Amino acid sequence: MKACGCEPATTFESIIWRQGPYDGFYCAEMGDACVGQWLSAPSNTIVIAKRWMDDSHTVKHEMLHAILGRGDHPPIFRRLLLADR
Ligand SMILES: [Zn+2]
Repeated sequence: MKACGCEPATTFESIIWRQGPYDGFYCAEMGDACVGQWLSAPSNTIVIAKRWMDDSHTVKHEMLHAILGRGDHPPIFRRLLLADR
């Protein structure tokens, strides 16, 4: 990835995409307000709440988790203006 100068932890083709409940779902970090979540290997799955499926910010945020292979939010999230979600 050009933005981080690192090797991506995944390829786009290997990410499994799942649609979550319409308004959001529970996750440990956000409680019931979760609209997107990346589940680490071996599942390598991104879940997006149905209402947010077309929200590029949410989708890019979760893809960045998958690319980095980590669930936390290092500074690159801020640099790419993808800090929230
Ligand atoms: Zn996140």
